[in-house]
Amino acid sequence: MLATIAGHLTATSWRTGIAVLPPRIADALLRVPRERFAAGASEERAHDDTALAIGDGQTLSQPFVVALMTTLLQPAPRHRILEIGTGSGYQAAVLARLVAEVRSVEVVPRLAERAAALAHELGCANVFVRLGDGWQGWPEHAPYDGIVVTCGAAAIPPALLAQLQPHGHLVMPLGPPDAQQLCDITLDARRRPSVREVLSVRFVPFVHELNRDHRCR
Ligand code: SAH
Repeated sequence: MLATIAGHLTATSWRTGIAVLPPRIADALLRVPRERFAAGASEERAHDDTALAIGDGQTLSQPFVVALMTTLLQPAPRHRILEIGTGSGYQAAVLARLVAEVRSVEVVPRLAERAAALAHELGCANVFVRLGDGWQGWPEHAPYDGIVVTCGAAAIPPALLAQLQPHGHLVMPLGPPDAQQLCDITLDARRRPSVREVLSVRFVPFVHELNRDHRCR
């Protein structure tokens, strides 16, 4: 799996600016048992570099995308990270090995419950899952050193920008479903966002009334 990720990173580095997987992140990816997060039938393909079904019509991103998003976040051991779209809990488990605390919001009750149970089972004591609409972020524990969104939105949710530390990265897919760009968003000293388009991607939609355009397709 790591060799495939490395190949993808090299091939896309002209766009992403990331040619090499940092060793800490490679180690985290190696240590998280991806097969535990993939639902039933797709288990045997758990280490292929593809997205996998996790039930409820949702998907677990391909390992290369998880690796890329994690690298863009620039996680440091003291960081507290917010994730929107817990899904299977795989991305959160990878981050849990790299930072102090991961807070993750999921809108589908079954997925939130399953991810929280699995995090507990795997001993990820620094992962906290909340059921709710991630459009509002998780204000009680803000600000965050980094925020990662694993569902595609038409626009940047204002609450997420408000909950981001200066110099932190907000990594999220933006744009219409058929033309999403993975974006790396940072705030300047006056908290004005700058958006760098990193790569074309395809994520499930961010379910929210302000993101209505996506939901209707
Ligand atoms: N990070 C996940 C992949 C998640 S797929 C993993 O590692 O497995 C995207 C997830 O975003 C889905 O589980 C979907 O239910 C969730 N989602 C969509 N809209 C949301 C919203 N408004 N708030 C929180 N989660 C949302």
